[in-house]
Amino acid sequence: MALRGLDISAESKFEFTLPKGCKIWPAPQYGQYSPHVEGSKAPNPSARRRRQSILNRPAKAAKARMARRSAVKEVGPEPSCSHLPLTPRDKPLHFLTIPGELRDMVYDLIVPRNTKIIAQNRPCFERRPGRKGSREIIRRYPLEPKIAQVSRQSRKEVLSIFYAANTFIFRRSQNRLLRNFSITDPAWLSKWFQGCPSSEFLRRVTLQFDACTRNVLYSVTFTLEKDSEEQIRAAHDFNKPQYCACLENTLVTQVLNPVTMSSNLAYVATMLAWRRRNAVLILGVRDDGADGMYRFPTARCLICHKRHPTHVGID
Ligand SMILES: [Zn+2]
Repeated sequence: MALRGLDISAESKFEFTLPKGCKIWPAPQYGQYSPHVEGSKAPNPSARRRRQSILNRPAKAAKARMARRSAVKEVGPEPSCSHLPLTPRDKPLHFLTIPGELRDMVYDLIVPRNTKIIAQNRPCFERRPGRKGSREIIRRYPLEPKIAQVSRQSRKEVLSIFYAANTFIFRRSQNRLLRNFSITDPAWLSKWFQGCPSSEFLRRVTLQFDACTRNVLYSVTFTLEKDSEEQIRAAHDFNKPQYCACLENTLVTQVLNPVTMSSNLAYVATMLAWRRRNAVLILGVRDDGADGMYRFPTARCLICHKRHPTHVGID
């Protein structure tokens, strides 16, 4: 045996004096007498007893737990190894892939309404993401059917039926907050139509303007309809025999003029509102005491010699 090039016989001849206090050489450097153990944590006798009790626990309890687990597993049905071959599934049916006739039947159940739809412009406050405060926007009412927000194709299809199957009424709102956004104002009326290009499918439109005779407020209603042959018909309901209806008759005649006739009912309604507004502005005088309505300077009409309505409104 060699140690650092020296054999035992040579090592034994190495001169060495035993240090004081050391009774054994080589002294135990490790284990419980090691100097590194002095600062370490003392062993916890209770934890040691707990570990020992777990290790010495009888194996019967573990066997019983294993037996219970195996009993629970055996309760379930055994998987069958024999089955029929799976039939291939059809592709999911998409709403836009079904025939158009069926889609129209669905739209006819959703879109038409039993009552006239009141069209309005309402101011709303919209919060913009990432910016402080909100801004005021003008939102057109009524809200369109939710299915119109699914896709461009469904929007085009459902809105064509929505505007064609319903009757829309445009009249001045009695709400003071909406006075400045009156839908009978030709400017706001044209904005309402421009808000949705599908409004060109309109087939029935009713325009109502305020009028007053002897402090009795009433409304003059213009009805515009497009028949199945795409011909537009116009009429008004001002049928008081003692009062002049020259303005209403002239407007209906101008609207039905074949030279300026258009097949777009939204355009015809806008033109009627503009022509009525211009005629009243030329003939009448604004009366601020009558809620901004206009009165005629003469008591009787110069054409039919009947009495004028006391006041007429243009928005
Ligand atoms: Zn007249």
